[in-house]
Amino acid sequence: LEGYVGFANVPNQVYRKAVKHGFEFSLMVVGESGLGKSTLLNSLFLTDVYSAEYPGPSLRSKKTVQIQQTRVLLREGGVHLLLTVIDTPGFGDAINNADCWKPVVEFVESRFEEHLNAESRVNRRPLRDTRVHCCLYFLAPTGHGLKAIDIEFMKQLHERVNIIPLVAKADTMTVEECRQFKKQVLKDIQENEIHIYDFPEVDNEEDSKQTKKARASMPLAVMGSNVLVDSNGRKVRARVYPWGLAEVENSEHCDFSVLRDLLLRCHLQDLKDVTNTVHYENFRAQCLAGLAG
Ligand code: GDP
Ligand code: MG
Repeated sequence: LEGYVGFANVPNQVYRKAVKHGFEFSLMVVGESGLGKSTLLNSLFLTDVYSAEYPGPSLRSKKTVQIQQTRVLLREGGVHLLLTVIDTPGFGDAINNADCWKPVVEFVESRFEEHLNAESRVNRRPLRDTRVHCCLYFLAPTGHGLKAIDIEFMKQLHERVNIIPLVAKADTMTVEECRQFKKQVLKDIQENEIHIYDFPEVDNEEDSKQTKKARASMPLAVMGSNVLVDSNGRKVRARVYPWGLAEVENSEHCDFSVLRDLLLRCHLQDLKDVTNTVHYENFRAQCLAGLAG
């Protein structure tokens, strides 16, 4: 656990690049308020992205959908990861959630626009990449599949950003409930033609096994916790219940570790590549078409 996230183990050529320039990665979390987005971010990066001086959006008033950005510099094995976390608080709280996806889509597009403008300027320095590379979309563990608002939200986003759907608060479901819920969610995703990020095959054997396992457990069910507790002499991140511990990093308890490995170890670069070659290119083509028309 000690300060270990895993991004320093990225494949060799990526690693060399990352050592030289540092990695820039922007991760967005989306979902109803109270689903554990901020807590999961803290669990993922072993650091309080949100602290007492800098409380997460869920601790502030949530009258409007307001987007909150936090930058953290993570260092590991000589690799620097400049991580930007984009939190989108509070949707679902209002009586009318009709256009709640709008500020989020506009945010993603504004990053594309910035990039487009920067690209068109003559400049020898390498461009900073502030585009949104991944969106973790949190689903409430209702047991009843996707909500209308989730379908609408993901459809508004899926042509713009890599979506990884997550079942939130995995500890609130039994193993069987979780399995059923995942099945239902996947079915809803397919029937509604929502495009989610497809983890590609990787050539190294260990990661390939990981990826296969992960694909079979989509959508990944996660939980987060801000406390470390003692479990048989080991300090583990866990949720404490009267009947025992739900351990965040125990893969029998939830898919948190699977998510962390996929996201930060195996597919960080692919998420950036897909953002550039698919989502950004789409956006650029639409802009050009708009200009021509
Ligand atoms: P956000 O609004 O989505 O950012 O949610 P927060 O991270 O602020 O968490 C909202 C509440 O849910 C807090 O009371 C957390 O302690 C609790 N919580 C966070 N993660 C989990 C989880 O994985 N399982 C359970 N049962 N509760 C969680
Ligand atoms: Mg929050």
